[in-house]
Amino acid sequence: MKRFIKGEERSQSALFPERLDDYIVEDNPVRIVDVFVEELHLADLGFVGTEPEATGRPSYHPSTLLKLYIYGYLNRLQSSRRLERETQRNVELMWLLGRLCPDFKTIADFRRDNGPAIQKVCGHFVKLCREAKLFTEAVAAVDGSKFKAVNNSDRAFTARKLQVRQEQLEENVARYLAELDRADREPTRITEDRVAHIQKRMETIKTRMRELDGIRVQLEAAPDGQVALTDPDARCMASRGRDTPMVGYNVQTAVDAQHHLIVAHEVTNVGNDRTQLAPMAQKAREAMGCDPEAAFTALADRGYFNGDQILECAEAGITALVPKSLTSNNRAKGLFDKQDFRYQAESDTFLCPSNQQAIRRFETVENGRKIIKYWSSSCPRCPIKSRCTTSDYRRIARWEHEHVLDTMQQRLDDTPDAMRVRRRTVEHPYATLKSWMGATHFLTKTLPKVSTEMSLHVLAYNIKRVMQILGMQKTMQIIRA
Ligand code: SF4
Repeated sequence: MKRFIKGEERSQSALFPERLDDYIVEDNPVRIVDVFVEELHLADLGFVGTEPEATGRPSYHPSTLLKLYIYGYLNRLQSSRRLERETQRNVELMWLLGRLCPDFKTIADFRRDNGPAIQKVCGHFVKLCREAKLFTEAVAAVDGSKFKAVNNSDRAFTARKLQVRQEQLEENVARYLAELDRADREPTRITEDRVAHIQKRMETIKTRMRELDGIRVQLEAAPDGQVALTDPDARCMASRGRDTPMVGYNVQTAVDAQHHLIVAHEVTNVGNDRTQLAPMAQKAREAMGCDPEAAFTALADRGYFNGDQILECAEAGITALVPKSLTSNNRAKGLFDKQDFRYQAESDTFLCPSNQQAIRRFETVENGRKIIKYWSSSCPRCPIKSRCTTSDYRRIARWEHEHVLDTMQQRLDDTPDAMRVRRRTVEHPYATLKSWMGATHFLTKTLPKVSTEMSLHVLAYNIKRVMQILGMQKTMQIIRA
């Protein structure tokens, strides 16, 4: 053992015991957590229990529990039971909390009871970043990602899923009944134990069918045709790279393109991103402190392509850059699609693939939008009509605000690396957050609690990111400023 580094004897007494502070080096991130929470005005942010009760058992100050949570989310410790355990053995937490060890219920109740205040703390950190001039480029990328909820997919139902489940049970009943029939005809071939087992299974199936009937009633009353039993707010949603839908939430984030900080986020249970662009872009612009009169660009992927949202952005002075969705029924049928028809603004006509003029014919309203229809009189005699339409005339529809989409397409053509910037910007935070969260993702149930959980994740991500960008000392300075 002579050639190895030796540790101290466990029974060795120290003449001058080390202070807890000696274990925490100057650039330990736990010091940032401490200073950040100490600088907050917790009562103004809406935390409950900032003033001690006159009677009863003294409670923990909210700053103690907030420090614990921020530390936990920075170190992949999100569950209240794990946090309780860590307070008893983790030197950094002993230093941070002054050796206080709240039990897991107190820890969990704090997160449950202070949701809106915790969300404001997340916003407050973004404000500090803004004041530190970290958002000098007025560009944000908006993206959504699906996060798993605490809800097994077997306990989430749509009408189709319910029907499949009921058909499976009916098939099982038919199979068991046939087996019971056989047992009546040929009692020697099927044992009594097997008959007893089948009867027990039939009882279980009957109970299950009654439960499914109850779920059918709930489904009929559900506005979006979905019922989740464990977390009632979670929804089945398609997720890229998965064959089966995931039961979870759709988390929207807006990330600044310069430093990849999450400037705004929102947890939704809507399975698609089509209505999220304008609200997220406006939140991002506000969070980044950009002047509404100045230029601001929002980048998003095809999933956000929605004329109404892009128009709303344009009206709010936000330049949206969203590529067109690639779905086209005509293209799927092997016919020319709308891209093959060129709009000519001067004459308000379309030039078709056969170089004929499709002229404006009439206006109509479809799904609340004013649509103008165009077609050419040459269609019946057109030599390439079989590649264009199966009707007498090929009608081309144009939304009254289509020029907004045309302008956006022109901008996209002029900035070919816009989508590369978008990908580079938004993929970074999602990859980091998901790896921190592990396989289970959210630990809490229902939309408000999940939103609080996400705010803690975003806050932890932003703190870590700012520490990487500015270093410990400067981060400490912007917090104290
Ligand atoms: S069918 Fe009509 S719209 Fe289509 S290419 Fe021929 S003329 Fe043009």
